[in-house]
Amino acid sequence: MNSPKLKANCPNPACPDPAQNAKFAVTKHSLLKTKSGLRRRYSCAACRSTFAATTGTVYERMRKSKSDFDKATHMQSEGMTKAAIARVLKVSPSTITRWLAKAGNHAAAFHKENARLPEAVEVQLDELSCKGTGEAKNAWAYSGVEVWSRFWATLKVGRRTLGNTYIFARQLRAVLIGESKDFLVTSDCFKYYEPVMRVVFGKTPLVYVQVKNHYFRKGIRKSDKTLVLGTPDQLEDAMARSEDSKKPNTAYIERLNLHKRMSCSMLRRRTPAPGRSCARIQEALELVRVFYNFVTPHGSLKFGKVKRTPAMQAGIFDRPLTIREIFSWVPPAKPKWGEKAVATMASEY
Ligand SMILES: [Zn+2]
Repeated sequence: MNSPKLKANCPNPACPDPAQNAKFAVTKHSLLKTKSGLRRRYSCAACRSTFAATTGTVYERMRKSKSDFDKATHMQSEGMTKAAIARVLKVSPSTITRWLAKAGNHAAAFHKENARLPEAVEVQLDELSCKGTGEAKNAWAYSGVEVWSRFWATLKVGRRTLGNTYIFARQLRAVLIGESKDFLVTSDCFKYYEPVMRVVFGKTPLVYVQVKNHYFRKGIRKSDKTLVLGTPDQLEDAMARSEDSKKPNTAYIERLNLHKRMSCSMLRRRTPAPGRSCARIQEALELVRVFYNFVTPHGSLKFGKVKRTPAMQAGIFDRPLTIREIFSWVPPAKPKWGEKAVATMASEY
């Protein structure tokens, strides 16, 4: 299991090896005198540059306190609107908008780097209508949850097109890399799932079942199941390994959809602040997701007196993280476009 490494990556975009060598290459450098006290600087042995503790993190060049920033993100993930957060913190609404966009993008980068489920057992997929306006009018939030760990594995906000369904399935495959075999995927009968799953998971040994629920008086009266990928024997094996489900179902992802609606002001029913663009909704949900997966212990993952977060249950971290730790993490610096092209060309010859 990992412990989070705070200064694991070098923030210098020109660093020859920002992600790999940096683990041991970043060391303490010097102390800098400022008006508000001593500040630590760090240095990277790979590129010999020095930088402050906040360089490359979301707190870089921020004029308000870190704690105000953390509180703003927490309030949004408890369902408060931007206007309400601005009033509570006495910060202008445009600052809050800028902070939340930055925090949402950082949360997405944190997931991209840390969300790995090599031993997935059962995955449930679903889409939730965002009820947005303008550009986000027909936006849906696609999500996937790994049932055993309750880990919210993937998230994609967009219209329900073939292209978006494909991007979503590709993201899911990237998270489920590794040793998992014959794991079970369930979803509703949305028309694009079948062709996309065949293309993306065609060579992966998994069992894919579509569930169609018939409702009557707020309960499920009947549910039809269709085996799309895999054999009935594989399905039986997969069901035997699942500790949570006796039959293929979509109950866990529907529970997560409720959490999304309650935790994001844009997704509330009859909200005064509907989402106006897919990107804004995605940023807001990425923040909800980082709190859900890494920070807040999950009610149903209680073992004796210890409550685990989904990331702990999935074996990604060995303790709950704080949001400050996540925001202090430095994402691996992206090479500039020109350098990337040169590096690709160099590797081809
Ligand atoms: Zn470096």
